[in-house]
Amino acid sequence: MKKPKAKQDDSVQRENVRRAQEAGKRQAATSARRSVDDDRNSRRFVPDRHVNNDPQGMQSHVSVPVPALIRRAFVFAVVIVGVGLVLYALIKNLASGLPIPLPLALSSQRAEETPTSAPPAQRIGIVSGHKGNDSGSVCQDGLTEAQVNYDIAVRVATMLRSQGYTVDILDEFDARLKGYHAALLLSVHADSCTYVNDLATGFKVARVLDSKIPQEEDRLVACLTTRYMASTGLRFHQNTVTFDMTKYHAFYEIDERTPGAIIETGFLYLDRQVLTQKPQLVAQGIYDGLICFLNNQQGMRSRENPKSS
Ligand SMILES: [Zn+2]
Repeated sequence: MKKPKAKQDDSVQRENVRRAQEAGKRQAATSARRSVDDDRNSRRFVPDRHVNNDPQGMQSHVSVPVPALIRRAFVFAVVIVGVGLVLYALIKNLASGLPIPLPLALSSQRAEETPTSAPPAQRIGIVSGHKGNDSGSVCQDGLTEAQVNYDIAVRVATMLRSQGYTVDILDEFDARLKGYHAALLLSVHADSCTYVNDLATGFKVARVLDSKIPQEEDRLVACLTTRYMASTGLRFHQNTVTFDMTKYHAFYEIDERTPGAIIETGFLYLDRQVLTQKPQLVAQGIYDGLICFLNNQQGMRSRENPKSS
């Protein structure tokens, strides 16, 4: 008897479950429609709301992949934009030569504009003969003395700077010459490019005629003479130290305490090969002479000194 009753109970139960399921489906469908209407009314797109408000997963087959795809696409786009920005910043920096921060750039610019910041003992002035004024001697092929002088001046300056000196390369009539106070001032010139005779070869070094510090300036001249001769192999052209050299204008502009000298590195005509083909030997000779003086060394004996007075 238990069995038929159980069967009857079962069929009643199945009917109840079927009704309950149908009611549930209707309710779920209504709530899903309401949810969609809510979204349309609020005009907001919240991808996950459809999934959460769908109790029986009726819409899940359609709605779940779409928000997931959009979310992935969004993350992908953010990553792409981020990488793009980083690359752009890198390329921009490289293209502009890794720019120095502005305060640094300004301070280094100021240092070049105000050369008086280094103490006189660490400062060296080199007048690049004729620079900023005229060409000096001119060769037939157009080579000028000013070009040769400047090439040598720059080489000497580079060597001195590598030893920690502050070097000013000055124009022939540089405004900075007035009252110039430094460890020394050297003016670099070269002689004529016109053929005079076979004796027009060699270099000359001189100091100002009426020196206030003759001992120091004689030592500067002696140091330059011996070291330059040793480096270049050129001979000292003793008899042609001219009034232009001993009354050289810059000597009367600089501070009296600044030892000054002028060098004629050679004749552009007969000594052209060494002046233009071996400029490093020329620069080395001048550099050695200046270091000799700066290190308080002696040049040659006085009997060998050029007669500058
Ligand atoms: Zn000259």
